[in-house]
Order: sequence, then C-alpha cells, then structure tokens
Amino acid sequence: MTTNQPVMTSLAQPYLEGLTEHVLRYQQCTACSRAQTLAHDACQFCGAEALVWHISTGRGHVHAATVVGRAPSDAFRSLAPYTLVVVTLEEGARLMGHASPGVKIGDAVTATFFKHLDQTLVRFEPLNRNFYV
Ligand SMILES: [Zn+2]
Repeated sequence: MTTNQPVMTSLAQPYLEGLTEHVLRYQQCTACSRAQTLAHDACQFCGAEALVWHISTGRGHVHAATVVGRAPSDAFRSLAPYTLVVVTLEEGARLMGHASPGVKIGDAVTATFFKHLDQTLVRFEPLNRNFYV
C-alpha cells in the first residue's frame, strides 16, 4: 500500500522535527558554506559530505508562486485552492511551502506553521509592508 506521507528517513529527521517545534532547519556545507533545505548526504553544490544543521530565521523573499486549484491528492483537497511558493531564505536556501492568498513573487515573507492531517506544514506570510512607515 502506498501513501502520500513523506518518507521518515533519518536524513530528514532534523528538518521534520524542526517543523513540529515551529523552526525551519537547513543544512550548511562546511566546505563551501552554501545552504540547502532538502536533506542530502552531500552538498548539492560541491559534493562535500561535511554538512551541519542550522536554524533559519524563517524570513526570505518569494522566488516563485502559484495557485493550486486542483489538489494532487485527497490529503490536500480540503485546502484547495491554495497558494504554493518557493522562498529564498535569508540563508540562501530555497524552500517550497504554502502561502497566504495574494502572496506574489518578490514579496518579503516569514514562515509560520500549521497542522494538517497530523503533519506540520509551512505557510509563508507576508512581512508587514508598513513596518517602516
Ligand atoms: Zn558545499
């Protein structure tokens, strides 16, 4: 039997545990200093295996955005339509997550978290654009 649940591997465990604690964790390469959010055995840029986990500020800018009108699975049907974004975090890594309706490319956002079917998911919310006014 197959499910749509992510595979709980030891590799992704620090990231998944971070979600339940409402923090975003990412891997940083100690050889080239670049960051990646999807857990790998090695750096996706230089191939070094010296990766360490850090906690992200959760802030970044929207790199790509789309509205999903038809959910790809029963698990997400109740959420549709919903906005998905790819965010470039301040640390340089990119991460896909849900977003508030109306969030668009270039917006400054911060990560929040919500529970859906026993999973903690990321939802990016716009930072207050009137903060400096
Ligand atoms: Zn590297």
